[in-house]
Amino acid sequence: MSTATPSTTATGLNLQEEARRHLWLHFSRMGGYSDTHEIPIIARGEGPYVYDDKGKRYLDGLSGLFCSNAGHGRTELGEAAARQVEELDFFMIWSYAHPRAIELASKIASLTPGDLNRVFFTSGGGEAVESALKLARNYHLMRGNGRKLKHIAREVAYHGTTLGALSATGVTNLRSQFEPLVPGGCHVPNTNMYHWPEDREPTWAAEQIEERILFEDPDTVSAVILEPVQNAGGCFVPPEGYFQQVREICDKYDILLISDEVICAWGRLGHYFGCERYGYQPDIITSAKALTSAYMPMGAMIASDRVAEPFMEGTNSFAHGFTFAGHPVASAVALANIEVFEREDLCGHVLRKEGEFREMLEGLRDIPIVGDVRGAGFFQAIELVKDQGTKESFNDEESEKLLRGFLSGALYDRGLICRADDRGDPVIQFSPTLVCDTEQFEEMHDVLRPVLTEASQLMRK
Ligand code: PLP
Repeated sequence: MSTATPSTTATGLNLQEEARRHLWLHFSRMGGYSDTHEIPIIARGEGPYVYDDKGKRYLDGLSGLFCSNAGHGRTELGEAAARQVEELDFFMIWSYAHPRAIELASKIASLTPGDLNRVFFTSGGGEAVESALKLARNYHLMRGNGRKLKHIAREVAYHGTTLGALSATGVTNLRSQFEPLVPGGCHVPNTNMYHWPEDREPTWAAEQIEERILFEDPDTVSAVILEPVQNAGGCFVPPEGYFQQVREICDKYDILLISDEVICAWGRLGHYFGCERYGYQPDIITSAKALTSAYMPMGAMIASDRVAEPFMEGTNSFAHGFTFAGHPVASAVALANIEVFEREDLCGHVLRKEGEFREMLEGLRDIPIVGDVRGAGFFQAIELVKDQGTKESFNDEESEKLLRGFLSGALYDRGLICRADDRGDPVIQFSPTLVCDTEQFEEMHDVLRPVLTEASQLMRK
């Protein structure tokens, strides 16, 4: 990244300098940025691409953190926002309603499977998870089971950073430095089948959930929270029948099943909701990110009629809310975004093209560092290993050298944005915009092959 022509703000400030001095980047080692290691500044987007402040083009292979599903630069979403500002800039949905929130809730309810008909808006994903965990506790309390306070989540899964959501997040180093967390978070093994012993039954992971429920005492467990495909750790898909088994376990012990679809909804897996791909019926879905394709911040918790019912009676209410939830401008943008999905059949496009995308990634298996290729839809990961035969992983020091020391920079320098992640074993994750096609898969390949080959050589030294 060159410093030759520093780009400036509208008022003539040097963007790089001002960013380093004033902007606090999330999850970032701020001390690592310098004149020779600049903060990447993304200034513009168009379709599957974004451009940095110097005009260089990148393929957005991550959809701006699993968000920009409809692709960048769709002016019609901005126009919907502008029209809404002219009509009603803001009003809250605390005791009032406004047309766009009503229309959006009704539209979402028409797309969700089964009786998931009650939409509680939030400003983002963590708030949606927080709301779901609180709703689960409150639901049981209202039905006279005030001891049902715990929730079960999976190891390495990410469900957000607020203290409640963090209690579900299963990434040790994100949790331990903020403890004590909200009590009640329990964790079970995930479905990282690549590292399972060969003779392990596919039913094992769901059985772990039941065992943990029994260990905790079913009368103390309110909810099980799972992503359809677990993101952190690298796109762990469920074994055959997993969710059906979990559904049965939840029903057996009167426990709510929360499908955390902050990533997996809105076409990511080729369906509006990820649970549709695996044929299970959750009690609550949490969503955010691509609900608006991130043209505006917005999240939602969608509850089944059964779960919402106790809150709809007499003087009862759910004593919970966020000022910006259901914001009229965000609602208008979400409606326009869903119109794009319908008009362009983005879910159908993912189902038609996911095979081609996957095949491109599978074609990299001859590179010694490529251990596993897994995922579903436009949500795929490559796990990087030291030894393909033994599946031996890199240790922390090696991962640091491989991911932060080489891969992240090398991929970005060659114009591909994706995520090199080591919250579990080291992986590279791909979550391209849903407008990607053959041309973009080929571009990805043309970056990945030389960079992964070089990474293999580097790690052999
Ligand atoms: N749940 C899942 C599955 C996520 O992937 C994320 C964020 O990536 C969250 C919750 C938290 O969402 P947010 O960052 O919008 O608070």
